[in-house]
Amino acid sequence: MEEIKCKYCGKKLGEIEGIAEIKCPRCKKINKFNTVEAQEAQGD
Ligand SMILES: [Zn+2]
Repeated sequence: MEEIKCKYCGKKLGEIEGIAEIKCPRCKKINKFNTVEAQEAQGD
């Protein structure tokens, strides 16, 4: 799991694993995250 924050206002949105799209409750913008690519890069 990886802690994620809104890219636009910095609000903490929670923790995710894999791919997610989360609408920020504060600024109403859509944040897209992908933690899979980062984990694969570390593993090699
Ligand atoms: Zn936000």
